[in-house]
Amino acid sequence: MVGNRSAVIIGSGAAGTACARALASEGWRVVVAERDRVGGTCLWRGCMPKKALYSAARAMRDVRRAEQFGIHTGAISLDWQETLAWKWHSQETYAGDQEGAFAARGIAVAKGDARFLSPDTVMVGDESYKPEAIVIATGSVPIVPDLPGAHLGDTSEQALHYTEVPDSLLVVGGGYVAVEFATIYALLGADVSVIIRGDRVLRGFDEEISRLALRSLGTTCGRVLTNASVTELAGEPGDLQVTLSQGDGATETLRTQRVLFATGRVPDLMGLECQVAGVDTDARGRLVLSEARTTNPRVWAVGDAAGGLMLTPVASYEGRAVAAAINAGETPSLDYSAVPSVVFGVPQLAQAGLNEDTAGARGIEVDVHRQSFEYLGAAIIEDEREGFAKLLFDKANGTLVGGTVVGPTASDLIWAISLGIQARATREHVRAALGIHPAFSESLNWAGW
Ligand code: FAD
Repeated sequence: MVGNRSAVIIGSGAAGTACARALASEGWRVVVAERDRVGGTCLWRGCMPKKALYSAARAMRDVRRAEQFGIHTGAISLDWQETLAWKWHSQETYAGDQEGAFAARGIAVAKGDARFLSPDTVMVGDESYKPEAIVIATGSVPIVPDLPGAHLGDTSEQALHYTEVPDSLLVVGGGYVAVEFATIYALLGADVSVIIRGDRVLRGFDEEISRLALRSLGTTCGRVLTNASVTELAGEPGDLQVTLSQGDGATETLRTQRVLFATGRVPDLMGLECQVAGVDTDARGRLVLSEARTTNPRVWAVGDAAGGLMLTPVASYEGRAVAAAINAGETPSLDYSAVPSVVFGVPQLAQAGLNEDTAGARGIEVDVHRQSFEYLGAAIIEDEREGFAKLLFDKANGTLVGGTVVGPTASDLIWAISLGIQARATREHVRAALGIHPAFSESLNWAGW
């Protein structure tokens, strides 16, 4: 492939797929380079398999709680192989025929490792390409701490494929992946400990969410250690000795079957040889970008590889936006003001747009309207009264700029807040859009009062 209106997209995840489809629909000749299974992290190693395990864990919780509703289920047992089979079934069903879907749109898939040969040439396997535009959509990789015996621990990818539910699991980290996996395995019966470097989980989330998440981890998991870190792993998976260091300098050795490092992710630029293409990276090894464009005007970056908000809908959004910019020969205008994000824990934790901290940091004064679930009909009926909904309105113009929902269905309700932010809804709009009774959405309507 050489020349005008041709593009090579490196990576077939959400970002690459969205970008490839959008360019192809404008008549571009598109090649997607992929070294692994077509579909990317969300499908094969992230959101989908995780949510399938989360659903199994929620089902387990529901069964354990069933007696409260007069349902006596007898002895509960878990057939983990069936759970894993369900997970695979969900993934495969959602994936469909990924390569066929590309082919149907006239998009070619080149299998192999892609790397730059020069500022305008990309090599995939044995084939070289000289397209008009090149898009880096290579995703991200987990960070594994640099400590003795770290190779004995797992990343989220391995934790999605455990051959059995571990009797004991130590989760290292306080981000959303840590909270989710700790919750999943604790509900499935593992004795889970969580170790957090600071005193807060879910940094970047609403402060109330962070506090609640820490408290609920304390209830679900055997032990939650804050201001502590792992300094060494020894033994072998199945029987690990973990040395922990606590804030006061004390050390402790803990035995556990598995250790899961959920300690963040970084853009995956390994092997791309960005330097030969004049694609600069900064001191932390991240791409230097200006509105998704690298320091080589022909080369763009989208999704996790761009190093911003690492979420599937954000990756797709960036892929589409950059495709439109490439097609129009313009700079993309990327708007992240209403991005919703969710932690699939118990309870579910969700936020969109600004929270009180981020609004304060930007000097935006907000009116906060909070509605507790304590006396919400649906919450009483389902005995989930700990949750709440919170709406933030900009004092200057009355528009919705952020919100938080904690509780069952928060992962669905938050979309309404995101839509409201996009639509610049005011309190009057929120009040006028009546809730459903008795349902959790009623909390959003009430929060408008
Ligand atoms: P990816 O999907 O990672 O795609 C990148 C592709 O590029 C990969 O297929 C890779 O093989 C390929 N590639 C890399 N380098 C090369 C190369 N040199 N040559 C050829 N191919 C290459 N997000 C949510 O929104 N909701 C969730 O619930 C959620 N849960 C998650 C749970 C886990 C455990 C993880 C790890 C992530 C989760 N995410 C979630 C994040 C989400 O999966 C990512 O943000 C999203 O997949 C990023 O898409 P992407 O297209 O940027 O990258």
